[in-house]
Amino acid sequence: LDPADSLVHALRDAVAEAPDRPCLAYFDARLGYREVDELSDSVAAHLVARGLERGDRVAVLLQNSPHFVLAVLGAWKAGATVVPVNPMYKSAEVAHVLRDGEVAALVCSDRAWESYLRETAVGSPVRIVLTACERDFQSRNDPRVLAFERLPQAPDAEDLVAVARQGGRAPEGLLPRPDDIALISYTSGTSGTPKGATNTHANIMHNAERLATGLGLPEAPVFYALAPLFHITGMVCQFGACLSSAGTLVLTYRFDPGVVLEAFAEHRPHYTVGPSTAYMALAAHPDATPEHFASFVDLASGGAPVPPALVERFRERFGPYIRVGYGLTECTAPCAAVPPHLEAPVDPVSGTLSVGLPGADTVVRILDEQGAEVPLGEQGEIVVRGPQVVPGYWRRPDATAETFPDGELRTGDIGFMDEQGWLYVVDRKKDMINASGFKVWPREVEDVLYTHPAVREAAVVGVPDGYRGETVKAYISLRPGAEADPDELAGYCKERLAAYKYPRQVEVLPDLPKTASGKILRRELRSRNTE
Ligand code: ATP
Repeated sequence: LDPADSLVHALRDAVAEAPDRPCLAYFDARLGYREVDELSDSVAAHLVARGLERGDRVAVLLQNSPHFVLAVLGAWKAGATVVPVNPMYKSAEVAHVLRDGEVAALVCSDRAWESYLRETAVGSPVRIVLTACERDFQSRNDPRVLAFERLPQAPDAEDLVAVARQGGRAPEGLLPRPDDIALISYTSGTSGTPKGATNTHANIMHNAERLATGLGLPEAPVFYALAPLFHITGMVCQFGACLSSAGTLVLTYRFDPGVVLEAFAEHRPHYTVGPSTAYMALAAHPDATPEHFASFVDLASGGAPVPPALVERFRERFGPYIRVGYGLTECTAPCAAVPPHLEAPVDPVSGTLSVGLPGADTVVRILDEQGAEVPLGEQGEIVVRGPQVVPGYWRRPDATAETFPDGELRTGDIGFMDEQGWLYVVDRKKDMINASGFKVWPREVEDVLYTHPAVREAAVVGVPDGYRGETVKAYISLRPGAEADPDELAGYCKERLAAYKYPRQVEVLPDLPKTASGKILRRELRSRNTE
């Protein structure tokens, strides 16, 4: 089979193959492939009728719902670029994206429009607004969908679902081409002001199709969307791979461990991917049993460090082996992953779990400060070249030249490669702690903390210290019912790490701050010590 040019083409192929197969499952609602095709056609026709032009930007601020899918497919069918925006963004963050992305159309929930987005959009380039009520498509008011009140239709917006049901064909001439920009993905901002990575349709199709064909999934596979679709991992590995394999995508609005377990029991999914914190939360849920995970052919985790202790404990308790992948927004989700049915080696010196082997047609190199390749086993910056690497940042030629010299992505991550070609991520270059001139990588300390039975989440940061310049501080949250004394935890690390690495300070918090995609925000923890 020829690879499809875009997910719109993949959708059309799926309609031809199985028009009535459920494409989306959302609580008690099911939307078949033909239905999704027709509804998104109508959204496209409407956007074009409202004056949207090829290449215009459409921002989508929605959780994991059919509305998200219809908005994205509708925009692509109109030849537009989608700007997925985290619906948890505050007004100033959204305002930055609307202006920086020069966004022409906005799709969001009716509540968000009323509560803050109308005001945020004032003075922005937005001229078309579609709002969605997330309880649409359901035949009963499922209590799990929360109580989404339907608000009276705003006079300055149109209802997305009404538009989708109005009927209308998407103009054929606007179908996406492989090199068109499919997404402007603003990086999650763990390291500063969000920049927009321009993921092309070809970038997306490379990773989506590799997943769809490489995992050994059955016919009509079921995907569960654990990662948010607005994040590149959710978009490509869940939505993209699902359309590419004509599967069913199970959506449950947003991450809630109890709801996720119910969905696993009901839909028996074959594949999902999420950050390690999501697996920690599922494992900590009192209802979780091995039966919940029995249907999975593949459980993947990426986008943030995966502590080896989590993988081992998870396997002991529930059976499946969590398969790790490594990626960035700038390489459209994974660029390296543990191949299915293999196990990642653990580095004997640092105890770090490998993040896998470089993907197909992908070259990963490790460079020193001068840009020369380091010998195998030595640490340096990870750089990536491959068909999933984006052409650059949206309207940021300087940042593009700096991060993508000659089209090769400088990840800002420090790592190394072993003799067999397995890649290991040590940590982010900018998160290194300099304690009296000694380099401490937070992740190594976190991996040790995760082996402690009381620890649920751990994050290690450098904090200012009059004597050492910087000192190591650990923030942790505890497993349900567990107790731990900060001094005991510091002592636990001291026994297992070189003297300069163990945390001099340990603070217990009820929960660690995270991005909406589940990454622990070290930056926020660091800033608690500098104010
Ligand atoms: P920002 O660029 O604004 O800081 P972000 O980096 O969190 O946001 P993403 O593109 O989602 O945005 O994250 C990519 C980063 O996540 C990588 O550079 C790496 O540091 C980390 N990462 C991803 N996968 C792994 C993994 N398997 N192990 C360790 N770290 C990982």
